[in-house]
Amino acid sequence: MSAVNLLDFDLEGLAAFCEQLGEKRFRAVQLFRWIHQKGATDFDQMSDLAKSLRGKLQGVATLERLKVISEHVSADGTIKWLFDVGGGNAVESVYIPEDDRATLCISSQAGCAVGCRFCSTGHQGFSRNLSTGEIIAQLWHAEHTLRQRFKRDDRIVSNVVMMGMGEPLQNYNALVPALRTMLDDHGYGLSRRRVTVSTSGVVPMIERLMKDCPVALAVSLHAPNDPLRDELVPLNRKYPIAELMATCVDYLSAAPRDFITFEYCMLDGVNDTDEHARELIALVRHKVPCKFNLIPFNPFPQSGLKRSNNPRVQAFARILADAGIVTTVRKTRGDDIDAACGQLAGEVQDRTRASERMLRQPIMIQAAAVADRKA
Ligand code: SF4
Repeated sequence: MSAVNLLDFDLEGLAAFCEQLGEKRFRAVQLFRWIHQKGATDFDQMSDLAKSLRGKLQGVATLERLKVISEHVSADGTIKWLFDVGGGNAVESVYIPEDDRATLCISSQAGCAVGCRFCSTGHQGFSRNLSTGEIIAQLWHAEHTLRQRFKRDDRIVSNVVMMGMGEPLQNYNALVPALRTMLDDHGYGLSRRRVTVSTSGVVPMIERLMKDCPVALAVSLHAPNDPLRDELVPLNRKYPIAELMATCVDYLSAAPRDFITFEYCMLDGVNDTDEHARELIALVRHKVPCKFNLIPFNPFPQSGLKRSNNPRVQAFARILADAGIVTTVRKTRGDDIDAACGQLAGEVQDRTRASERMLRQPIMIQAAAVADRKA
């Protein structure tokens, strides 16, 4: 029988595992704290655990950390790790320090099946879901490596965003125990407001998350109407904007914040005109309490898309702000190490042949969307 990776468990899971070993729940709490709060890598370090339990664990359990392929540190303090997740697949995490917080952007899948046109991960295709252990190991690595490096005892990572490679809500069963571990006072003790799941709009799973583990929600919107969003975020064909907006409103009844964050990647000539901004206002004002985060696009060769220029982004932001919608323009961080949003390419064995599909599809987004709206 292969050993069980204890990083795969939230506290309830670990308690059930300990029970199978004939151990009481408080032992699971001790073990959980050693793993996640103290960063223990070896059962022998867990000095207040009974020797008999440590002995039992040696035979049946492991703590599987991720192998680091590379680490890049930006001039602005941003750190990007590339982790080996086996089978020729690699995923990335990015640590972004700011004055009042330090955010870790975590991956949930090796690749992504959603295939958003502006996203280099989507372009690579999908290989596999990460396990709970592989998701939480990214936080474990950042927290405990940096504590040692910065010679600090207090918490390093204050915020987590599930915004790296992958669509987290298409890996729901692994995601939720990882979120619970982040929130657990015996784990990382992050507040629900400081843990954000970013989704391209998997409506049924947003509804489940609302019941199972309501953390802050960000939605990758990127277009104000269905024809354009169908092209940019193909999942929209399954869950169109009206359905997504209604679900966002429902989610707010359980959410730790009283707004949804809409991510909007600014694409030159595609979704960045004054008219698009006015359409967005009509879509959300007095309907969906929200804030907009405008993201400068990070071009990659195969996308056929261009970044909106700064004056255009500012003009777009001003139209939204003048309508009373809180709007921020995301600062690009870690540009010198390709750690900015949408650049988390990792490396995957593409089982979906996404790159071939994309190459076959000409970029006719703008023309199609305008024609559809005028029809
Ligand atoms: S933006 Fe997110 S959901 Fe879309 S392809 Fe990229 S990783 Fe997947």
